[in-house]
Amino acid sequence: MAALTQVPIAPASMERFRAVLGADYSQVEAAIGEAERLLAGRVIWHVNSTARGGGVAEMLRSLLAYARGAGVDLRWVTIDGDEDFFRVTKRIHNHLHGAPGDGGELGRREREIYERGLLESAAELTALVQKGDVVYLHDPQTAGLAPHIKSRDVSVVWRCHVGLDRPNELARNAWAFLEDYVSSADAYVFSRRTFAWEGLEKEKLWLVAPSIDAFSPKNQDLDAEAVRAIVARAGLAHLDGQAPMFTREDGTRTRVDRAAEVDQEGLIPDDSPLVVQVSRWDRLKDPTGVLRCFAEHCRHPEAHLLLAGPAVAEIADDPEGAEVLAEVRDQWQRLPSEVRARVHLACLPMEDIEENAAIVNAIQRRADVILQKSLAEGFGLTVAEAMWKARPVVAGRIGGIQDQIVDGVSGLLVDDPADLAAVAEAIDTLLDDPDRAEAIGIAGRERVRKSFLSTRHLVEYVQLIAGMLQAQDGVADR
Ligand code: UDP
Repeated sequence: MAALTQVPIAPASMERFRAVLGADYSQVEAAIGEAERLLAGRVIWHVNSTARGGGVAEMLRSLLAYARGAGVDLRWVTIDGDEDFFRVTKRIHNHLHGAPGDGGELGRREREIYERGLLESAAELTALVQKGDVVYLHDPQTAGLAPHIKSRDVSVVWRCHVGLDRPNELARNAWAFLEDYVSSADAYVFSRRTFAWEGLEKEKLWLVAPSIDAFSPKNQDLDAEAVRAIVARAGLAHLDGQAPMFTREDGTRTRVDRAAEVDQEGLIPDDSPLVVQVSRWDRLKDPTGVLRCFAEHCRHPEAHLLLAGPAVAEIADDPEGAEVLAEVRDQWQRLPSEVRARVHLACLPMEDIEENAAIVNAIQRRADVILQKSLAEGFGLTVAEAMWKARPVVAGRIGGIQDQIVDGVSGLLVDDPADLAAVAEAIDTLLDDPDRAEAIGIAGRERVRKSFLSTRHLVEYVQLIAGMLQAQDGVADR
């Protein structure tokens, strides 16, 4: 079996952003012109470890579709790996977030597993890329490919989506582990300045914040009937006879068919306030903390809580998902019965990624408050997704969440997301005051419109490639 899998990219037109961006769309047009000039004859490769589940895949799906629609010749490939390989890369990921993960080390043995795990992917990729191509390697899983493909005279961009504001010993060790590979890249991209590792060459450093796609099934407008019908079809609310419809990436209208796998004692009543957290089953998202926060501190006895995440068997590069979900289920079982009756756990079907996205969309729109109680977060796409839907968000003052939410204006930031009472207080404040919650939601949408849509991201990627190629020409001239 091949180690690399090519993910299909259907072209999409960026024209649809004209109405959303108004006069600012001219920057997008300028970037499209610049990309045509710069990228003629080159293929742009994006390499990561999964085509579904998690923020990186989510973003690539949209960005690459728009870039292809603008005429850029692109490929998206994912690497394969065995259990040992993904256990090591998950450990690196946790350490980069400052967390011990499974408690294991990143030593010589892990380096061997990591390098061996990439050998086949490296050989296949090296045979495919051509001189002049630009290769984006995403996150720790693919960093080790850099030295291999540099032999082909390509430009390598290492795009790191994770980080923490104040690095600890674990993070520094993970940097040391990756540094040998990453240092051969021509550019490093981090989501925010505090994430950039100490000691990297400043000239190669770029900062680019992530983004969401306003038109994808995840974020497209859904009217109230569609929201009700999709949440009901997922198995979380009463069926009302409406068809649960959404629009696919290719423009066709379709229906949500699959239900989520749900742990709950009853459906969510239509008139109950709903607090929602959507995320992978990952300890850094603190799902058990969310349960305790809701059960022990929230003072709205009529409110319900929904924790939603992907069906775990489906995410190949996330070996801890099933374990974390089991912990959450166990804790749910042990909740006092009165609270358990108001808490819903949902594993969303992953067979059809667009259907999954439509369910997330409807759940986020059904929410009165969206929580992202992560203990560490590179960016937190779920925050931007909620803000775009004009939902008020409560989240920790950590990582890229701080770039998205202006506290008290476009969401509420809690200084320490591990402080359950403080998180509950922020949720209660919003449930107490629906007018304020609405104003915060509207401000959140405007903030995403201005700063966190795919178009801004693509314009910055064109600037990055232009800058990187110029720097390389400069070096070649010398
Ligand atoms: N997500 C999803 N289905 C799920 C759970 C999560 O599509 O069942 C999406 C979520 O909407 C978001 C992404 O996965 O787009 C998670 O990205 P984020 O940056 O929040 O966190 P990450 O998973 O990258 O740590």
